[in-house]
Amino acid sequence: MIFKRFVVGALEVNCYVIADEETKEGIIIDPGDNVDEIYNYISKNGIIIKYIINTHCHFDHCGGNKKMKNLTNAELLIHEMEKPVLERMDTSAQIWGFYVDKSPEPDRYLKDGDILKVGNINIEVIHTPGHSPGGICLKINNKVITGDTLFAGGIGRTDFPGGDYDTLMKSIREKLFTLPEDTEIYPGHGPSSTIRNEKYFNPFF
Ligand SMILES: [Zn+2]
Ligand SMILES: [Zn+2]
Repeated sequence: MIFKRFVVGALEVNCYVIADEETKEGIIIDPGDNVDEIYNYISKNGIIIKYIINTHCHFDHCGGNKKMKNLTNAELLIHEMEKPVLERMDTSAQIWGFYVDKSPEPDRYLKDGDILKVGNINIEVIHTPGHSPGGICLKINNKVITGDTLFAGGIGRTDFPGGDYDTLMKSIREKLFTLPEDTEIYPGHGPSSTIRNEKYFNPFF
């Protein structure tokens, strides 16, 4: 499996390109920025992007949706509850002094428990609201992409519109800490970790 991380944009978002080595089919998670750099990598490696997925729709995670969709023709997928967040993404960015393209409409909505198939890779959708109402984590074998839900040594902010601390803690406890402890986590910002590390050493728990 191809599993490549790019750190993109001013807020240093982790964008992930994951693809099946045999079929070359793949996905891009959170193309916040640096679309040309990511697209170069994809074309050089002959990867055919089937889906662009946003873990949630803050502008730092989806500022590059439009450009990436134009280049790859891939389907854009988000959780349904993230729809209003995606719609105001470009105007929210301006409040912070950033200018990003308005995102195209999603092609389809994801829900908890959905399994996406890309080549021989299964991607399981886990709805983890709290940082944002339609926040999702994506589980691929023993790896889970956690967006801004869970970080190495931290948790997502809950002071943005639609954020809620208790909901976030519940999502992490019930949906992530119940995964096998050797599951690796790949957050939306910062380094990777494991469920075991976060369960026992994350200061928020
Ligand atoms: Zn966020
Ligand atoms: Zn973020």
